[in-house]
Amino acid sequence: MDQPIEGVPGRYWHVLDDGRVQCDVCPRYCKLHDGQRGLCFVRARQGDGIVLTTYGRSSGFCIDPIEKKPLDHFLPGTPVLSFGTAGCNLTCKFCQNWDISKAREFDRLQDLASPEAIAEAAVESGCRSVAFTYNDPVIFLEYAIDVAQACRERGIRTVAVSAGYIAPEPRIELFRHMDAANIDLKGFTERFYKTLCTGQLASVLETLEYLKHETGVWFEITTLLIPGENDSPQEIEAESRWVMDRLGPDVPLHFTAFHPDWKMRDTPPTPAETLRMARRIATEAGIRYVYTGNIHDPAGQTTYCRNCGAALIGRDGYDITAWNVSADGRCAACGTRCPGVFEAAPGRWGARRRPVMVRPSAAESII
Ligand code: SF4
Repeated sequence: MDQPIEGVPGRYWHVLDDGRVQCDVCPRYCKLHDGQRGLCFVRARQGDGIVLTTYGRSSGFCIDPIEKKPLDHFLPGTPVLSFGTAGCNLTCKFCQNWDISKAREFDRLQDLASPEAIAEAAVESGCRSVAFTYNDPVIFLEYAIDVAQACRERGIRTVAVSAGYIAPEPRIELFRHMDAANIDLKGFTERFYKTLCTGQLASVLETLEYLKHETGVWFEITTLLIPGENDSPQEIEAESRWVMDRLGPDVPLHFTAFHPDWKMRDTPPTPAETLRMARRIATEAGIRYVYTGNIHDPAGQTTYCRNCGAALIGRDGYDITAWNVSADGRCAACGTRCPGVFEAAPGRWGARRRPVMVRPSAAESII
């Protein structure tokens, strides 16, 4: 007899007329027979419901700079306790975290940690926030939400790094618990999403509009530019115009460099000039805060005042090199406000990346 699948009860599912159970967490709407796992592999049917098999199990914890998520307008310079679990609900051929997102063997998930232990570890290590990253919190939303609640009780903010591929109802619940997000807008054609990710662009755009118009979540957008796939000036211009029209000029947009990985090892890395070209196009479309990433480009990673052009926050990689902004985000030269979440001084974490251990329960939590 098959072993029962272990997990905690999952939310967002219903029983179909034919006896299968449909998972309603993401637009894949997997229809499952008993014992079957969804495409993400971590949600599975158990009896007449769905269980989450990765609750409390992490692929490891690391303290990163918040700029690495990337978030440039959210508590700049501060350390963020980052973790992921396993699995993913997209199948991107260019995945840059495939060892986690494609994990099928849960022996990768060595760090057992309760939500309280994670929040305590963030406090004790001086982190200002906890990030659900490395893989998408959409597929482990019950765990992410419990961690977020434990964090809020201790004054720690939470950050979702997500592809935004989530159904409308769980979207409301997940983002109600988040303070900030970086949403991957992977390309700007349905062809790209269909052929390289087996997903749909429209659902991601819905999430972006939802975040902008119906929540107070601070969010930024990242597009990984892949040579020959989503890097044409026309596509970048179409994306930029959509962002301007639907989200306005103040949502920061990051264009980052692809490195050959997973099933796209024969595609070359993104030239720096492509990223600079994309930044020019988006800036000309009217977006005020456009950044390049994964290359050395201090000019393309600096935040400028939209009114007087002064450098508000200078950056060199993940290091902050200049700070001319007040606690409420005003330019030191002209007083114009820059949108985001700022403090009187930047954090001093710099570019460090420090792996840490989080003990299973809060009672013995320390890193
Ligand atoms: S979250 Fe997983 S199981 Fe649920 S619909 Fe999406 S891929 Fe399928």
